[in-house]
Amino acid sequence: MIVDIPVPVFRIGSIIVIFVQLTVSYTMSSESYNYTEERNKILQEERMKFIGNDLILTDNEMKANEIILKVKKTELNEGYDNESTFLASQHFFKAKNKIERSEMFNIIKKIPKGGSLHTHYLSGVSADFIINNITHRKNIYGCDLNGVFKLRFLEDATNDTTCNWKKLEDYRKENSNFDDWLRKQLILDVENPYEEYPTADSVWAKFKKIFSTQYDMVCYKPVFEIFIYQLLNELYSDNVIYTELRGTFMPLYELNGKIYNSKEFMKIFINTVERFKKNFPDFVGVRYIHSIYRGLTIENLTLQLDELTKLKKLFPNFVAGFDLIGREEEGHCLFEIHQLLSKYSENLKFYFHAGETNWFGHTDLNIIDAVLLNSSRIGHGFGLNKHPVVTRLAKDKNICVELCPISNQVLMLISDPRNHPMIGLMAEGFPVVICNDDPSAWGTIGLSYDWYVAFMAMTSENDGIRVLKQFALNSILYSAMEDEEKEAAVRIWEKSWQEFIDYIILHHK
Ligand SMILES: [Zn+2]
Repeated sequence: MIVDIPVPVFRIGSIIVIFVQLTVSYTMSSESYNYTEERNKILQEERMKFIGNDLILTDNEMKANEIILKVKKTELNEGYDNESTFLASQHFFKAKNKIERSEMFNIIKKIPKGGSLHTHYLSGVSADFIINNITHRKNIYGCDLNGVFKLRFLEDATNDTTCNWKKLEDYRKENSNFDDWLRKQLILDVENPYEEYPTADSVWAKFKKIFSTQYDMVCYKPVFEIFIYQLLNELYSDNVIYTELRGTFMPLYELNGKIYNSKEFMKIFINTVERFKKNFPDFVGVRYIHSIYRGLTIENLTLQLDELTKLKKLFPNFVAGFDLIGREEEGHCLFEIHQLLSKYSENLKFYFHAGETNWFGHTDLNIIDAVLLNSSRIGHGFGLNKHPVVTRLAKDKNICVELCPISNQVLMLISDPRNHPMIGLMAEGFPVVICNDDPSAWGTIGLSYDWYVAFMAMTSENDGIRVLKQFALNSILYSAMEDEEKEAAVRIWEKSWQEFIDYIILHHK
């Protein structure tokens, strides 16, 4: 290849324009030049850069890879012929039922996925379970408070004048479809999402109401225990063996008026996790990421961080660190409070949501601060590709992005996940871990739906089992566990992984 670089200079008024024009003269006709070979070299180099593709597979994994690629390509080929059949590019609410019938999805469901590292526990239990197993319990009341339907357990509603409480059984007597209506208060899932939620503002408004509806109900201590246990059950049933849950200290209460403090809350949480682990010994465990609403006053923020520092000392293996949550357009940006945050960095690790936005030069700048503050991972990092210097720095610091494709679509950062900005970074080998964010709000259980969308819409048609294996490994390697715990978790995971490989070879000939 011969490259000539002439440099023409033009003058327009007082402005000098320099054109650097590359004239490339390929000696394509020469015998030594093989066009296809050059093309294949580029493809191979790109393939090797994509995350997971440097993993070396066993013979059985190679066989499973062929099977998985065949299934993946069958679905893709249908999409190439008729784009309307391609499920991973459609709005998730419209595609969900069809995804559940997809062969690829059903394979993904069986994959041992390792950990779920970005799940908000208040939206971690399916609405069906809540309706059937929590809202039919005794002493549950509901009421409309400023346009939000609130749920709460009360011994005697007349003692609580904060709202005009009415028993749910009375609501049900008046309206035989009450449970269907209540379900809609607990999820975002609707038939026509683009009409129901025309803007990000409108979808966030409904999203916040969901949390508000559930909050008091889940604070009832017996329900909190059932709730967390079920959350772990739903993850575990989707072949997840570890999770890091984001939330706040909830003021758990009893019907007699007793309120548990944050230390007691932690103990109740940990005991529930231990009970689950006892019943399912290959479930590795849970870490807690304290999540503070970014709209809090500095005073309250400081109080919470002080309290969390104390709790971290009391429960060092449970408390991983903290995060700031809520829409990044609302409340403090990280730069504004970086000095305050730095003071806590000795005792607490950071797991910041950052760059969950479409803006450029605005709230996306949280990513810069998340990286400078040594956040252990970045939640979403949706705007990361706009910041090449920060991306390089994040990669050097080995900071992983928690990629939540369904959340990003439902909350209107992107309509078609094939255009997701993290694809370009994954193509450069940037580490990601697939997360579900708020599964119950999307009407899902576990991680499989996000894995499906990521695998089908965000990886190449030639990316098979290596990328799936890397997703799972990343969820352990980039977790908050200590090194020896990670090793133990990988050993448990590997056993299930081998079983999965055997299953695929046996059942998909
Ligand atoms: Zn989140």
